[in-house]
Amino acid sequence: MVKRMTDTRGLLLVNTGNGKGKSTAAFGVAFRALGQGLTVSIIQFIKGKWKTGELRTAQRLGLELMPMGKGFTWESENIEEDKALMRQAWTVASEKILSGAYDLIILDELNYVLGYGYIPVTEVVRILQSRPPHVHVVLTGRNAPDEIISIADCVTEMRDIKHPYRSGIPAQKGIDF
Ligand code: ATP
Ligand code: MG
Repeated sequence: MVKRMTDTRGLLLVNTGNGKGKSTAAFGVAFRALGQGLTVSIIQFIKGKWKTGELRTAQRLGLELMPMGKGFTWESENIEEDKALMRQAWTVASEKILSGAYDLIILDELNYVLGYGYIPVTEVVRILQSRPPHVHVVLTGRNAPDEIISIADCVTEMRDIKHPYRSGIPAQKGIDF
C-alpha cells in the first residue's frame, strides 16, 4: 500500500474556467517539479509575441519553455498562418509527450486551440492516452472540452469573481505577463 502510494503515476491536470490563474497555476507546478528534479517542458500555444516574465525566468533557470504562438489569434490577420503554427506546436508537443523524456509537460492555452477546432480533440485524447505512464500533463485554457475533462485526473475551474480588466486596469507587468 505504502509502495503503491509513492509510485509515480502520470496525471492529467486541467486548469480551466473564466477566472485568472490558469497559466500561473501551471507555472507553479513547473516551479515545484523542477525542485524535485523532474524534467519539464512548457509549450505555449497562444502567447509568443512579447518576451513574458515566465520566458525570462525559464531562460535563467534552464527550464524549457517554447512560445509557439505569434500573439493572440484575435489580433491575427492570417488565420491560416495561425492554424499552421498551432498544428506545428501540437506536433512538437505530441512528440515530447510520447517520447517519455519529460516528467511534466505543460500545454499552455491548448484549450483555446481546441476551441477554434485547429487541432481535433480526438487526436489530443489519443496522444494523451498513449503517453508513457510516468508523464504528467497540465493543460490550460478556458472551455476545456468534455472529452478532455472526462479523461483528466484533476480538473480545476478558476471562477472569475473580480478582474482588474473590468475596472479599466490594463495587464500589469509581472502579474499578467
Ligand atoms: P494568467 O496567465 O494570469 O494565469 P489565465 O491563464 O487564467 O491567466 P487566460 O485566459 O490565459 O488566463 O488569459 C490571458 C490574459 O487574460 C492574462 O493576462 C489574464 O490576466 C487575462 N485574464 C484572465 N482572466 C480574465 C478575465 N476574467 N477578464 C479579463 N482578462 C482576464
Ligand atoms: Mg493562460
